[in-house]
Amino acid sequence: MGEGENVKDVIQRTLVFIKPDGVKRGLVGEIISRFEKAGLKIVGMKMMWLPRDFAEEHYRDDPKFIKKIAQKIKESYEMYGLEPPKDLIAAAKKLREDLIKYVTSGPIVALVLEGPRAIYIVRKLVGDTSPEEAAPGTIRGDYSIDNYPFANIELRSIRNVIHASDAENAEREIALFFDDDELFEYKRADEHIMFEPL
Ligand code: GDP
Repeated sequence: MGEGENVKDVIQRTLVFIKPDGVKRGLVGEIISRFEKAGLKIVGMKMMWLPRDFAEEHYRDDPKFIKKIAQKIKESYEMYGLEPPKDLIAAAKKLREDLIKYVTSGPIVALVLEGPRAIYIVRKLVGDTSPEEAAPGTIRGDYSIDNYPFANIELRSIRNVIHASDAENAEREIALFFDDDELFEYKRADEHIMFEPL
């Protein structure tokens, strides 16, 4: 913590949503329970069936996102010694199209989680994008059943159970999914461990 920084300044909010495969496989309770046990405070929660335009807004067609996906596709082919698609940008756009189909294919459960360095902690608990690379003990490492070779045959998005915001997008995604009056401030019973003197 930097000078002049208060412990409460490191408290962040982040958005996660359990993707349709996670909901359909009955993993909602298990996943939420992991976050709760790790001390993350649920400050917003709802079930939604995302309309297409909502999913398009979440996974925006912006060059930065497309480039990031293109890079991941390249790495996911090379990881298996395969030749990546020649036109990586076109491949990334196709994958985005499938990602939109995937997250609108059934209901999702969205949460806003709060805690110290919540964005980093939540992504750590969620694990790597690739289920094969996601460490055991992470949500994706323990529960995703998909893998890159299968997904890449059809250039479809990998079914990896859950989405979690990164630092760049957390604020935007929270505002997209939740109105201010759907987010709540309260104290968890265990907060005294961090914030009160012994
Ligand atoms: P995340 O932050 O780990 O969810 O990853 P991204 O935001 O980069 O990508 C969004 C989603 O697109 C991921 O959760 C995957 O479902 C899918 N995806 C990303 N990269 C790849 C890839 O290289 N191959 C495949 N098949 N799917 C991918």
